[in-house]
Amino acid sequence: LEAQVVATAPARGTQPFTESTGDRQPFTALPLSQRTTRGLTGGGFKTMTEIQVAAIPHALAGRDVLGAAKTGSGKTLAFLVPLVEKLYRSRITFGDGLAALVISPTRELSLQIFEVLREFGKHHQLSAGLITGGKKEFREEQASVIKMNILVATPGRLLQHLEQTPGFDPSLLQVLVLDEADRILDMGFRDQLNSILEYLPPSRQTMLFSATQTKSIKDLARLSLRKGNVEYVAVRAGK
Ligand code: ADP
Ligand code: MG
Repeated sequence: LEAQVVATAPARGTQPFTESTGDRQPFTALPLSQRTTRGLTGGGFKTMTEIQVAAIPHALAGRDVLGAAKTGSGKTLAFLVPLVEKLYRSRITFGDGLAALVISPTRELSLQIFEVLREFGKHHQLSAGLITGGKKEFREEQASVIKMNILVATPGRLLQHLEQTPGFDPSLLQVLVLDEADRILDMGFRDQLNSILEYLPPSRQTMLFSATQTKSIKDLARLSLRKGNVEYVAVRAGK
């Protein structure tokens, strides 16, 4: 994986993960590529968390996923593993343009997602960028953004690129992830998110994760997920 921080954000420590009791399925039970398996093993990830067990098989089968799980439950890999696998199976690589998009509410969360992607995805031949409207000039970002197979982004800056960056073409997008969708809405990004969705091809696979299940999340789900092909996965416990 050729990862590039297009705009930097301050680092933040990751939360500690504690093993829950009970049987835990290993990642090796999934039909994953060697490249992904190696990345997971290298990162010390052996068994799946509850939300990963619940979400990954459906996502690998190409279904849209509406996931509810608390902070710390392992949502990042729950969407990044099927995202990377889908691109691998489609033989997407450098030069193929934008194939997957992860939208998260803040720079810090985007950076955390990006770091996980960079680490476990390093054996894949994919380019990935982080765009969060940081210090770098917009113009500098424009040159990098159009080269990326995977972008991790906050809504405002992403929309700016969709509107203003020549050659930035989302028409072949295969996967969209909306992470912490409730916070995206709480932070006032609803209109920008709706505008972003209008740029994206309806045929894409969408994974929508939220800690809460509110009316506005249901509205967003109606707007962003494909009808009749949605799997609802909810996990009550933290892990
Ligand atoms: P969430 O997005 O649900 O808040 P994260 O994806 O940030 O959760 O994961 C929380 C913590 O759990 C991170 O430190 C991550 O490295 C760890 N983690 C995630 N999945 C696993 C796993 N399968 N095995 C061990 N640790 C994991
Ligand atoms: Mg998260």
